[in-house]
Amino acid sequence: MKTLFQNLLSDVKAGHRLTDKEAHLLFSVHDRQVWDVARAADEVREERVGPAITYVLNQNINVTNLCVNACGFCGFSKKTGDEGIYFHDKTEIQKKAALAKTRGVSEICTVSGLHPAFTAQSYADVYRCIHEAAPGVHLHASNPMEVAYAAKKSKMSTKDVLVLMKEAGLGSMCGTAAEILVDSVRDAICHEKISTAEWVRIIKEAHRLGIPTTATIMYGHCESDADRVSHLAILREIQDETHGFTEFVPLSFIHMNTPLFRAGIARAGATGREDLLMVAVARLFLDNFKNIQVSWVKEGIKMAQLGLIAGANDLGGTMFEESISKGAGALNTDYLDPKEMQRVAEDVGRSLKRRTTLYEDI
Ligand code: SF4
Repeated sequence: MKTLFQNLLSDVKAGHRLTDKEAHLLFSVHDRQVWDVARAADEVREERVGPAITYVLNQNINVTNLCVNACGFCGFSKKTGDEGIYFHDKTEIQKKAALAKTRGVSEICTVSGLHPAFTAQSYADVYRCIHEAAPGVHLHASNPMEVAYAAKKSKMSTKDVLVLMKEAGLGSMCGTAAEILVDSVRDAICHEKISTAEWVRIIKEAHRLGIPTTATIMYGHCESDADRVSHLAILREIQDETHGFTEFVPLSFIHMNTPLFRAGIARAGATGREDLLMVAVARLFLDNFKNIQVSWVKEGIKMAQLGLIAGANDLGGTMFEESISKGAGALNTDYLDPKEMQRVAEDVGRSLKRRTTLYEDI
């Protein structure tokens, strides 16, 4: 006889929309039931997007690591007077963008610290200068925190900032700065950041302006399973309304060099069980998302590969240059060769396909 748990997995595969309580139950399994959840998610993935594993050839350009905020989970940002501050001027940015172009990337991604001197125009100038040096490349940049910061600095509405950014060539926005969309958790890990309501408002504003975004979660620090479910529920609700999310990207917390871990507020990152369940439950819960990405930067390539047989269909980008996770203590984050992605995909019996930022085939 089937148990309640098995019935739930059969129902969700047949199209039942998981409730928050049911998602919570799936997050709480500890034994071999983890494989059952992963298997159901893999079947749903197969049904929704097919067998291909996708990736994007992209390059990161982080303009500066100087930041007015001090998020507890961040090992990347520097304060005025710290050692190791960098700020890339126009020449340097264009050199990096031109190099990216010669590497044949289809996407340049840029997110930076909140530089004390930045205004909305500074962001627009950076986007324009990237496009000048790498014409035709899709610019995936900024996030709701940067938009709110630019708006405050320039005394503009966030909507006007988004319009300015779009006119300067912003193709899609990063759905980062979401961390956990529960204010009590945000207060503990990044109290200077925008609130949940503000993040949601700016994301919806972007979607309405025709700027698609990714959706992320940063988990494995001090949030509970219930917080993870609340977060996913907010994303699903936004997607129902706007259909503006291109993909969901779970970001496993890298703890080593972060103030949050040193202060004993955060645990030492998610476990392998949690990493797998994050992907699988997201695939089952987010029934209005086509794409679930595994982050090889955050999880390492071996764990990322397991995510690909637990509901994920995308390996993210090649990167070429990465400094945010490296700053927090992650290793081998700079570049993942498509040949290695191919090996990983074939090893689980699937093919690898290159895509654009917006999931068109290349
Ligand atoms: S996460 Fe972003 S906003 Fe927070 S300290 Fe780091 S760079 Fe600054």
